[in-house]
Amino acid sequence: MTALFIGSHLSTAGGWNALLKRSHDEGGTAFAFFPRSPYGKRSKALDPAQAGEFGARLKAQGYGPLVVHAPYVYNLAGKDEAKRQFAIEALAEDIELLTPIREAGQETYINIHPGSHVGQGAETGCRLISDGLNRVLERASGIPVLLETMAGKGTECGRNFEELATIVDGIDNKANIGITFDTCHVFDAGYDLVNNYDDVMGQLDEIIGLDTVKAIHVNDSQFGLDSHKDRHANIGEGQLGIPFFKRLVNDPIMARLPMILETKEQTPTTHREEIELLCSLANHS
Ligand SMILES: [Zn+2]
Repeated sequence: MTALFIGSHLSTAGGWNALLKRSHDEGGTAFAFFPRSPYGKRSKALDPAQAGEFGARLKAQGYGPLVVHAPYVYNLAGKDEAKRQFAIEALAEDIELLTPIREAGQETYINIHPGSHVGQGAETGCRLISDGLNRVLERASGIPVLLETMAGKGTECGRNFEELATIVDGIDNKANIGITFDTCHVFDAGYDLVNNYDDVMGQLDEIIGLDTVKAIHVNDSQFGLDSHKDRHANIGEGQLGIPFFKRLVNDPIMARLPMILETKEQTPTTHREEIELLCSLANHS
């Protein structure tokens, strides 16, 4: 088995070079970042003119796929048309910012939380998300969009594999859509990754297709199966536990995907230690 592509969600303060330095400091081979502020303001630190050079450096250094995270504020399933329009335009702009990275040969994705239906019902929510993504992909399609598996907190859409499959089904440009598998969220949503790993992966393959899964958010879960809380824990310190992560990093299909830690940085070396821990669990044979 080859080495893992792994790293954490990093701050963009200071721009592209500072981002890469943070990744080197944690010993990462992949990472994530927000392309703009959590409230949707464009980042001044990330100069679009230098995106291509950044991509070329990542490629030259052998990085795994980048999995950029869209801001939480986007809600393609919302009631308010103006806010939906903002999410569509902002996501298209994010794709435009990142496209030179992919054009430089560096595999790149943008991950989004599908959206919350805010009482309109899951069916309507899923349809609004597909429609919104169709509009995004008509404007900008240089980077594939990944829908994140959600914990099912509140009125989140994408709380099970069927809802994600429904959203994907409604998208015209399927070549530009994929899935991010969040270990905490999937467990929290009620899939027993601890006791029935093969069964959950079988369902994922049957309902969505394993080849549609392009990235992993690798997080332990503070709460138990089916709790819909979405509270990440540090690796090995939650309800998923080390045997699960050992299974994951030795799964020949999942271990090829970029793994992004979204765990709390308890100390400045937390992520470096978590990366080392996960790599140590992989059998290098
Ligand atoms: Zn997320």
